[in-house]
Amino acid sequence: MYTVRFFHDSGFTQLMPVMLGKSVDPLGPDPGSSVVKIPEIEYQGEKLRLTTSMILHKQVAVKGIGRIFIMSPNIRLERAERKESGRHLFEFTQADFEMSGAKKDDVFGLLEDYYRGLSEFLAREASEEFEALGIGIFEFKPPFKRYTTHELFDKYGEDWERQASLAHDQPFWAICYKREFYDKEDPKEEGHFLNYDLIYPEGFGEGISGAEREHEFEVIHRKIKRDKLDLSPYATYLKFAKAGLIPSAGAGIGMERLARFLSKSKHISEVTLFRRVPGMPVDI
Ligand code: AMP
Ligand code: MG
Repeated sequence: MYTVRFFHDSGFTQLMPVMLGKSVDPLGPDPGSSVVKIPEIEYQGEKLRLTTSMILHKQVAVKGIGRIFIMSPNIRLERAERKESGRHLFEFTQADFEMSGAKKDDVFGLLEDYYRGLSEFLAREASEEFEALGIGIFEFKPPFKRYTTHELFDKYGEDWERQASLAHDQPFWAICYKREFYDKEDPKEEGHFLNYDLIYPEGFGEGISGAEREHEFEVIHRKIKRDKLDLSPYATYLKFAKAGLIPSAGAGIGMERLARFLSKSKHISEVTLFRRVPGMPVDI
């Protein structure tokens, strides 16, 4: 409720999710991804894939609308061992948003307002529930610290996400990951990227991923080839890119990960009614 109201109040138009797409997020190459396959169905002679994320649809939609958000269900068939991470589901929801013409600082500012307001909202509306859980309401205190992934790697080593998360008591931004083609490379610094994650403290780890986006056809095409992706699923997206995408930035807030962090739950399945956990059977 808070999330939907926040985006409406911040001038975003809510779109309904799509569950099938011709071009969907490849989820890679991303060192954090362990998706085994993207399920595909054939219908009316076309190959359609289950939505892994709506990033490519967001880029198309933001051109006409400017500020958009979607409560977007994602299917990602993660490897069974992800059951142990405590933070992976194979079906989950992102509050997924995109803003035309925005830069990473605009996204940071918006999300820091979101978290500040969330603490206030919970204090007003949910104090009894948190009392029943026997825990306090987390007080988000933005602005959050910002680090590059390179700094974090140097300080905490390969396992930096977990170690840095354990070493902090407020969320922090991690900036610059080499990952999917649609995240913008820094034009001023080749090999650096204008993307970011928000890492929750106390060992809870990644809660949000986002980026400024590539919008030029030539760049997108080159990077899809760089990643050795089969071009055919991206043919329709590339058609839109050729017709002209616009600069934008956005992010996706993992709703179950947020609920897990707020409720200090050991496993993310504790905050979902119909759990979809890699390596575990589905109840219904
Ligand atoms: P991504 O852009 O792929 O990082 O996804 C956006 C956000 O969705 C992440 O930052 C997480 O909060 C959440 N998320 C991604 N994968 C999962 C998963 N397997 N289970 C639960 N939440 C996830
Ligand atoms: Mg991520």
